[in-house]
Amino acid sequence: MKRMALSLMAISMLVGVANAQLKVNTKAIGAVGKGVKAATYSDADAARDAAAGVKWMDEHNPVADANDPYAVRLNKIFGKHKSEDGLNLNYKVYKVVDINAFACADGSVRVFSSLMDIMSDDELLAVIGHEIGHVRNHDSKDAMKAALTRSAVADAAGSQSGVASALTESQLGALAEAMMDSKHSRKQETDADMYSYDFMKKHGYNVMGAYNAFMTLASLSEGSGAQASKFQKMMNSHPDSKQRAEEVKKKAQKDGLWKEADIKKIK
Ligand SMILES: [Zn+2]
Repeated sequence: MKRMALSLMAISMLVGVANAQLKVNTKAIGAVGKGVKAATYSDADAARDAAAGVKWMDEHNPVADANDPYAVRLNKIFGKHKSEDGLNLNYKVYKVVDINAFACADGSVRVFSSLMDIMSDDELLAVIGHEIGHVRNHDSKDAMKAALTRSAVADAAGSQSGVASALTESQLGALAEAMMDSKHSRKQETDADMYSYDFMKKHGYNVMGAYNAFMTLASLSEGSGAQASKFQKMMNSHPDSKQRAEEVKKKAQKDGLWKEADIKKIK
């Protein structure tokens, strides 16, 4: 299994914004753009620009093809939610070692195979629900705006329509990287967690999956070694995993959906 093709992207994703190597890539693009005018940047703009960034990522990362067991499994889990909550969603698996998943403003959700390796179907549903929540709450649009500014293609994007299609290969790469580097606020993360819980409940899924998903993430942050430390840094922008699990527990108990027996045994 490969690392993500864009190694800088993978690193920035794991380590965060303040990364020396990230600068190298940004420098290649030029000065930072002036930013995107908040008032005029629409959902459609965000969808268009996100689609361009995702297209680049799909072309530069090992996407599981339709017959790949990972793709078959994700299709089984995600297939019935393509039109969730009025959204138009699409999904793929990246066969990479990084443990992550992300959603973009155009409704693209990408799940990494290494995350699938450590999570049950119910846990993955909770992650998917969380990502859909980001799209539904327009967090992905905010993230897209920030990514455009950081990737220095904002000037171009602000000055003409359909500009994403006119970006050069390296500009698209920078845009993709900035998208991966986008952090949501804690409030956005908490809201997405709430959305995820409601998503599980609404569809009659086992909400213990949400609890177990957060406990799995918590276990990854524990321990020592380079992998744990990378993961801790990545999770810095999120509320504490155990706290997130506790929130699920409170809701589940209130709803009568808490099942002690379904708590995952984590080694
Ligand atoms: Zn999130």
